[in-house]
Amino acid sequence: LNSEPKIGMRALVVLSGGQDSTTCLYWALSRFNPRAVHALTFDYGQRHRIELDCAVKIAARAGVPHTTLKIDTFSQLGGNALTDQDVAVSSELDPKTELPNTFVPGRNLIFLTYAAAFAYNMGISELVTGVAQTDYSGYPDCRQETIDALAKAISLGMDTEFTIYTPLMELSKAETVQLAAKMGALEAMADTHTCYNGQRPPCGECPACILRAKGFQEAGIADPLIVATGG
Ligand code: ZN
Repeated sequence: LNSEPKIGMRALVVLSGGQDSTTCLYWALSRFNPRAVHALTFDYGQRHRIELDCAVKIAARAGVPHTTLKIDTFSQLGGNALTDQDVAVSSELDPKTELPNTFVPGRNLIFLTYAAAFAYNMGISELVTGVAQTDYSGYPDCRQETIDALAKAISLGMDTEFTIYTPLMELSKAETVQLAAKMGALEAMADTHTCYNGQRPPCGECPACILRAKGFQEAGIADPLIVATGG
Protein backbone atom coordinates (compact mmCIF):
# COMPACT_ATOMS: atom_id res chain seq x y z
CA LEU A 1 0.00 0.00 0.00
CA ASN A 2 1.31 3.40 -0.92
CA SER A 3 -0.29 5.06 2.08
CA GLU A 4 -2.49 4.30 5.06
CA PRO A 5 -6.12 5.20 4.40
CA LYS A 6 -7.68 7.80 6.60
CA ILE A 7 -10.60 6.47 8.59
CA GLY A 8 -13.71 8.59 8.23
CA MET A 9 -12.71 10.17 4.94
CA ARG A 10 -14.67 10.06 1.73
CA ALA A 11 -13.39 7.99 -1.15
CA LEU A 12 -14.03 7.31 -4.82
CA VAL A 13 -13.59 3.75 -6.10
CA VAL A 14 -13.07 3.00 -9.79
CA LEU A 15 -15.44 0.04 -10.29
CA SER A 16 -15.16 -1.93 -13.53
CA GLY A 17 -17.62 -4.64 -12.59
CA GLY A 18 -14.78 -7.15 -12.26
CA GLN A 19 -13.47 -9.18 -9.36
CA ASP A 20 -10.58 -6.87 -8.45
CA SER A 21 -12.39 -3.55 -8.37
CA THR A 22 -15.26 -5.16 -6.42
CA THR A 23 -12.76 -6.33 -3.81
CA CYS A 24 -11.44 -2.75 -3.70
CA LEU A 25 -14.94 -1.38 -3.18
CA TYR A 26 -15.41 -3.54 -0.08
CA TRP A 27 -11.89 -2.70 1.06
CA ALA A 28 -12.80 0.99 0.80
CA LEU A 29 -16.01 0.46 2.76
CA SER A 30 -13.96 -0.98 5.60
CA ARG A 31 -11.27 1.72 5.50
CA PHE A 32 -13.09 4.97 4.82
CA ASN A 33 -16.41 6.39 5.93
CA PRO A 34 -18.74 3.67 4.54
CA ARG A 35 -21.50 6.23 4.02
CA ALA A 36 -19.18 8.39 1.94
CA VAL A 37 -17.81 5.89 -0.57
CA HIS A 38 -18.81 6.53 -4.19
CA ALA A 39 -18.28 4.14 -7.12
CA LEU A 40 -17.39 5.30 -10.63
CA THR A 41 -17.60 3.14 -13.76
CA PHE A 42 -16.35 3.97 -17.24
CA ASP A 43 -18.37 3.12 -20.30
CA TYR A 44 -15.39 3.20 -22.68
CA GLY A 45 -16.95 1.23 -25.49
CA GLN A 46 -15.91 -2.13 -24.05
CA ARG A 47 -17.34 -4.85 -26.25
CA HIS A 48 -18.79 -6.65 -23.26
CA ARG A 49 -21.53 -4.38 -22.04
CA ILE A 50 -22.30 -6.95 -19.34
CA GLU A 51 -19.52 -5.34 -17.25
CA LEU A 52 -21.56 -2.16 -16.95
CA ASP A 53 -24.64 -4.01 -15.69
CA CYS A 54 -22.43 -5.90 -13.24
CA ALA A 55 -21.06 -2.64 -11.84
CA VAL A 56 -24.58 -1.30 -11.28
CA LYS A 57 -25.59 -4.50 -9.42
CA ILE A 58 -22.42 -4.57 -7.33
CA ALA A 59 -22.78 -0.94 -6.25
CA ALA A 60 -26.44 -1.50 -5.37
CA ARG A 61 -25.59 -4.61 -3.35
CA ALA A 62 -22.89 -2.69 -1.49
CA GLY A 63 -25.29 0.21 -0.95
CA VAL A 64 -23.03 2.86 -2.48
CA PRO A 65 -23.97 5.64 -4.89
CA HIS A 66 -22.72 4.89 -8.38
CA THR A 67 -22.02 6.88 -11.52
CA THR A 68 -21.24 5.63 -15.02
CA LEU A 69 -19.17 8.02 -17.15
CA LYS A 70 -19.23 7.59 -20.89
CA ILE A 71 -15.89 7.94 -22.74
CA ASP A 72 -16.21 6.74 -26.28
CA THR A 73 -12.73 7.56 -27.56
CA PHE A 74 -10.97 4.23 -26.92
CA SER A 75 -13.13 2.39 -29.44
CA GLN A 76 -12.22 5.04 -32.01
CA LEU A 77 -8.52 4.37 -31.35
CA GLY A 78 -9.06 0.63 -31.92
CA GLY A 79 -6.31 -1.94 -32.20
CA ASN A 80 -7.00 -3.95 -29.06
CA ALA A 81 -9.24 -6.87 -28.25
CA LEU A 82 -11.25 -5.15 -25.51
CA THR A 83 -12.71 -2.32 -27.58
CA ASP A 84 -12.24 -3.47 -31.18
CA GLN A 85 -14.84 -5.96 -32.44
CA ASP A 86 -12.46 -7.04 -35.22
CA VAL A 87 -9.68 -8.14 -32.87
CA ALA A 88 -10.06 -11.51 -31.12
CA VAL A 89 -8.59 -12.03 -27.63
CA SER A 90 -5.28 -13.83 -27.91
CA SER A 91 -3.17 -15.38 -25.16
CA GLU A 92 -0.05 -14.80 -27.29
CA LEU A 93 2.10 -11.75 -26.54
CA ASP A 94 2.84 -9.22 -29.26
CA PRO A 95 6.52 -9.90 -30.08
CA LYS A 96 7.26 -6.17 -30.38
CA THR A 97 5.61 -4.88 -27.19
CA GLU A 98 5.57 -8.16 -25.19
CA LEU A 99 1.99 -7.24 -24.20
CA PRO A 100 -1.23 -9.17 -24.83
CA ASN A 101 -3.72 -7.65 -27.28
CA THR A 102 -6.09 -6.93 -24.39
CA PHE A 103 -3.86 -3.98 -23.48
CA VAL A 104 -5.77 -0.73 -24.04
CA PRO A 105 -3.06 1.96 -24.25
CA GLY A 106 -3.56 4.74 -21.73
CA ARG A 107 -6.69 3.24 -20.22
CA ASN A 108 -5.81 3.47 -16.54
CA LEU A 109 -4.14 6.86 -17.02
CA ILE A 110 -7.30 8.27 -18.58
CA PHE A 111 -9.62 6.52 -16.09
CA LEU A 112 -7.76 7.83 -13.07
CA THR A 113 -7.49 11.32 -14.51
CA TYR A 114 -11.24 11.42 -15.10
CA ALA A 115 -11.79 9.88 -11.67
CA ALA A 116 -9.71 12.66 -10.14
CA ALA A 117 -11.65 15.33 -12.02
CA PHE A 118 -14.93 13.75 -10.90
CA ALA A 119 -13.66 13.47 -7.31
CA TYR A 120 -12.44 17.08 -7.39
CA ASN A 121 -15.97 18.27 -8.12
CA MET A 122 -17.25 16.22 -5.21
CA GLY A 123 -14.56 17.40 -2.81
CA ILE A 124 -13.02 13.91 -2.61
CA SER A 125 -9.25 13.43 -2.65
CA GLU A 126 -8.96 9.69 -1.94
CA LEU A 127 -9.08 7.46 -5.04
CA VAL A 128 -9.07 3.66 -5.03
CA THR A 129 -8.18 1.42 -7.98
CA GLY A 130 -7.80 -2.35 -8.34
CA VAL A 131 -4.66 -2.34 -10.48
CA ALA A 132 -1.95 -4.85 -9.58
CA GLN A 133 1.54 -5.47 -10.88
CA THR A 134 1.78 -9.10 -9.79
CA ASP A 135 0.50 -12.22 -11.49
CA TYR A 136 -1.30 -10.25 -14.25
CA SER A 137 -0.77 -9.38 -17.85
CA GLY A 138 2.16 -7.01 -17.41
CA TYR A 139 0.17 -3.90 -18.30
CA PRO A 140 2.60 -1.00 -17.79
CA ASP A 141 -0.14 1.33 -16.49
CA CYS A 142 -0.77 -1.07 -13.58
CA ARG A 143 2.71 -0.59 -12.12
CA GLN A 144 3.14 1.25 -8.83
CA GLU A 145 5.66 3.56 -10.49
CA THR A 146 3.06 4.63 -13.06
CA ILE A 147 0.42 5.19 -10.37
CA ASP A 148 2.83 7.22 -8.22
CA ALA A 149 3.74 9.44 -11.17
CA LEU A 150 0.07 9.90 -12.08
CA ALA A 151 -0.88 10.76 -8.48
CA LYS A 152 1.77 13.46 -8.59
CA ALA A 153 0.57 14.76 -11.97
CA ILE A 154 -3.11 14.99 -11.03
CA SER A 155 -2.28 16.52 -7.64
CA LEU A 156 -0.21 19.23 -9.30
CA GLY A 157 -2.61 19.67 -12.19
CA MET A 158 -5.64 20.17 -9.94
CA ASP A 159 -3.75 21.74 -7.04
CA THR A 160 -5.25 19.14 -4.66
CA GLU A 161 -3.45 16.47 -2.67
CA PHE A 162 -4.87 13.31 -4.28
CA THR A 163 -3.95 9.88 -2.94
CA ILE A 164 -4.38 6.83 -5.17
CA TYR A 165 -4.81 3.63 -3.14
CA THR A 166 -3.88 0.34 -4.81
CA PRO A 167 -4.77 -2.33 -2.22
CA LEU A 168 -4.15 -5.18 -4.67
CA MET A 169 -0.84 -3.92 -6.07
CA GLU A 170 1.41 -6.54 -4.49
CA LEU A 171 -1.13 -9.36 -4.11
CA SER A 172 -1.30 -12.57 -6.13
CA LYS A 173 -4.71 -13.57 -7.50
CA ALA A 174 -5.08 -16.07 -4.64
CA GLU A 175 -4.29 -13.36 -2.08
CA THR A 176 -6.84 -11.06 -3.75
CA VAL A 177 -9.48 -13.78 -3.31
CA GLN A 178 -8.48 -14.11 0.34
CA LEU A 179 -8.76 -10.35 0.78
CA ALA A 180 -12.24 -10.43 -0.79
CA ALA A 181 -13.26 -13.08 1.74
CA LYS A 182 -11.85 -11.02 4.61
CA MET A 183 -13.66 -7.86 3.43
CA GLY A 184 -17.02 -9.62 3.07
CA ALA A 185 -16.95 -9.24 -0.71
CA LEU A 186 -17.37 -12.91 -1.62
CA GLU A 187 -21.15 -12.83 -2.12
CA ALA A 188 -20.74 -9.87 -4.46
CA MET A 189 -18.35 -11.96 -6.57
CA ALA A 190 -21.40 -13.71 -8.01
CA ASP A 191 -22.25 -10.41 -9.77
CA THR A 192 -18.75 -9.75 -11.13
CA HIS A 193 -17.62 -10.22 -14.69
CA THR A 194 -14.13 -11.33 -15.74
CA CYS A 195 -14.45 -13.36 -18.96
CA TYR A 196 -12.77 -11.76 -21.99
CA ASN A 197 -15.31 -13.51 -24.20
CA GLY A 198 -18.17 -11.77 -22.41
CA GLN A 199 -19.84 -14.99 -21.34
CA ARG A 200 -21.91 -15.72 -18.25
CA PRO A 201 -21.47 -18.47 -17.14
CA PRO A 202 -17.82 -17.71 -17.96
CA CYS A 203 -16.15 -19.53 -20.89
CA GLY A 204 -13.45 -20.96 -18.62
CA GLU A 205 -10.93 -20.87 -21.45
CA CYS A 206 -9.85 -17.27 -22.02
CA PRO A 207 -6.78 -15.87 -20.18
CA ALA A 208 -8.99 -13.89 -17.76
CA CYS A 209 -11.12 -16.93 -16.84
CA ILE A 210 -8.04 -19.10 -16.38
CA LEU A 211 -6.35 -16.53 -14.12
CA ARG A 212 -9.53 -16.10 -12.06
CA ALA A 213 -10.04 -19.86 -11.65
CA LYS A 214 -6.41 -20.30 -10.60
CA GLY A 215 -6.79 -17.61 -7.93
CA PHE A 216 -9.89 -19.15 -6.37
CA GLN A 217 -8.39 -22.63 -6.56
CA GLU A 218 -5.15 -21.58 -4.84
CA ALA A 219 -7.13 -19.71 -2.18
CA GLY A 220 -9.18 -22.85 -1.56
CA ILE A 221 -12.45 -20.94 -2.05
CA ALA A 222 -15.27 -21.80 -4.46
CA ASP A 223 -15.93 -18.99 -6.95
CA PRO A 224 -19.44 -17.65 -6.15
CA LEU A 225 -19.86 -16.75 -9.84
CA ILE A 226 -19.34 -20.37 -10.85
CA VAL A 227 -21.62 -21.55 -8.04
CA ALA A 228 -24.33 -19.04 -9.04
CA THR A 229 -24.21 -19.71 -12.78
CA GLY A 230 -23.39 -23.41 -12.71
CA GLY A 231 -20.52 -22.65 -15.10
ZN1 ZN B 1 -13.59 -16.44 -20.42
